[in-house]
Amino acid sequence: MLIDLHNHTKMCCHAEGEMEEYVQAAISKKIGVMGFAEHSPWMPEQHIKMALSWDEAPLYVQNVKKLQDQYDREEKRRIKILLGMEMDFVPELLDHPREFCQKYDFDYVIGSVHYIGAWGFDQDTQKKKFELDSIREIYERYFDLVKQLVQTGIFDIMGHVDLVKKFGYFPEQGWDDLQEETARILGESDMVVELNASGMDKPVGEFYPGPDFLKRLKKYGVPMTLSSDAHKPREVGRYFDKAVILLKETGYREVFMFSKRKKIPVSLY
Ligand SMILES: [Zn+2]
Ligand SMILES: [Zn+2]
Repeated sequence: MLIDLHNHTKMCCHAEGEMEEYVQAAISKKIGVMGFAEHSPWMPEQHIKMALSWDEAPLYVQNVKKLQDQYDREEKRRIKILLGMEMDFVPELLDHPREFCQKYDFDYVIGSVHYIGAWGFDQDTQKKKFELDSIREIYERYFDLVKQLVQTGIFDIMGHVDLVKKFGYFPEQGWDDLQEETARILGESDMVVELNASGMDKPVGEFYPGPDFLKRLKKYGVPMTLSSDAHKPREVGRYFDKAVILLKETGYREVFMFSKRKKIPVSLY
């Protein structure tokens, strides 16, 4: 069975389509379990709306639950819908994710690094800095944040673990050591890593993580899940045929879904 645990909604203002269109798209792609994971309301830089606002969070949860009920009642129960959230990791704002995990009964929460300090490094409008600074240092700072995120123990899924490669800038000196260290730390944690397909449509043109990084994750016994990071209904389940082949080639036999913060294996065979 296919699963897709990372879908956005138009509530973050940089995605489009009705929530039900995402569900329908998932059904048409034979996805058995799909989860919404909208951007959490805290970000270091707040002048453009890129996420849920604080007062929209309850409405988001309500909207997901409404769809859950609706699709649970349908005769053939064609799909299971999960309630998730993609939470920004901001080292000085850890009370927010902790509070949200208490306040809402999420099936899972994704932890993601979208900012290095105040720099939104994955935004098209802010990528110039990659040409001005040392790429190796940027990578070191990024993976240090990933390490801190993992060590908080707050999050269930590591979001797009190597997002820093999005625009195709790589350190001349390499970054094998950073992959190795990150994989080792993830292996010591309870976290699942998503094989996020959105990178296939970005300048880097590969999954987050790519094949070599995935091999290291496998070596350290890190469990995986599958996600499209869809910001449009038609992106739901994108490149999943390739993703499943890559997972199997790397030796994975299953991926994980969640229910009320507990992970549940789903066979890839
Ligand atoms: Zn987004
Ligand atoms: Zn993200």
